[in-house]
Amino acid sequence: MLEKQNLLGLTQSKLKKFFSDLNEKPFRTKQIMQWVYHQGVTDFDDMHNFSKDLRQKLDSIASINMPEIVSLNHSKDGVVKWVIKLGEDNHIESVFIPQKDRGTLCISSQVGCSLACTFCSTGYQGFNRNLKNHEIIAQVLIAKNYLEAHNSRITNVVFMGMGEPLLNESPVYDACEILLDDWAFGLSRRKVTVSSSGIVPALIRMSDTVPVSLAISLHAPDDILRDILVPINQKYPIKELMKACHYYLKAGTQERHILFEYVMLDGVNDSIEQAKSLSKLLNYWFESESAKVNLIPFNPFPESQYKTSSPSTIDKFQDVLFKAGIRTTTRRTRGDDVDAACGQLAGKVLDKSRRNAERNRLLS
Ligand code: SAH
Ligand code: SF4
Repeated sequence: MLEKQNLLGLTQSKLKKFFSDLNEKPFRTKQIMQWVYHQGVTDFDDMHNFSKDLRQKLDSIASINMPEIVSLNHSKDGVVKWVIKLGEDNHIESVFIPQKDRGTLCISSQVGCSLACTFCSTGYQGFNRNLKNHEIIAQVLIAKNYLEAHNSRITNVVFMGMGEPLLNESPVYDACEILLDDWAFGLSRRKVTVSSSGIVPALIRMSDTVPVSLAISLHAPDDILRDILVPINQKYPIKELMKACHYYLKAGTQERHILFEYVMLDGVNDSIEQAKSLSKLLNYWFESESAKVNLIPFNPFPESQYKTSSPSTIDKFQDVLFKAGIRTTTRRTRGDDVDAACGQLAGKVLDKSRRNAERNRLLS
């Protein structure tokens, strides 16, 4: 028997094609997207504005298939973490972080990550596979349905969970399109952020493909240190990355800016000299309005060899950046009691050995 097509995660244009192949009117696309993404309805039988015939037809060839939730944990500070099981028993994680004026959902794009940044728990887990469109979008739908039933809502979505989104381009771009689509999640482009360790050719493609916000995981002001912390830097060094960032800023019709993420590692990348080098680098490449820095206190995990910088070191580092005219914020650690803080997402990655093969391929 043919496998049913999962309609979850199909963009508006792909759904239009699906209905046109069935000789159905294009307006079915809007109807089904609103049922699924606005009403949370996933059973064709409950879609009352579809004829019985259409419901039966859909039932025989398609599905809206949601993955299984393994666990849902609440941290003391209001963070919610979902562990989601994919077909073959891999687990991924998504995290909701409520703040006073917004609610940010942090989603995964891969099972594990092949890039092995030395301070990242996901990197330690190794890599198994890319997520499919529906597995990315299911994370948002699961969270939306749960949060709406608990008087909360998602205002921002960030690709800062497990994996490197720019190594899984097509599903990530489709997911972005659905996040921005008014018939689905209807978020503004400023509220959807792709975070990347800097896959240069993909970054150029993304700049022209989806109009979303960009965060770059920089973590070091020079290539010698970045080669160690973020090994993909050996292939795409800082200068190439900065040029691609420039390309991103100029592409698109709306004004853009970039958030540079910088994890604060005690005695490794947190000196005053390094703060000065970072200011110099960013001021050389960017006008002050287009680059912002987010300092992230390092979140430890069992295998990690680093310690987080002290609050006073972070303050002094931030001061240097301020004085150089760079807008800088420090991220407050949230959800660490349920291992939901940045870089603590480990999931369950089957066959971790795939990381080395994938990494060698990428670095070659
Ligand atoms: N692969 C992408 C997105 C996922 S990582 C990227 O690297 O940008 C999301 C963010 O968490 C990145 O900025 C990453 O550098 C940061 N991060 C990873 N491990 C961390 C840790 N142990 N403590 C704090 N932040 C961490
Ligand atoms: Fe992968 Fe990002 Fe972790 Fe690096 S920081 S290993 S790119 S998930």
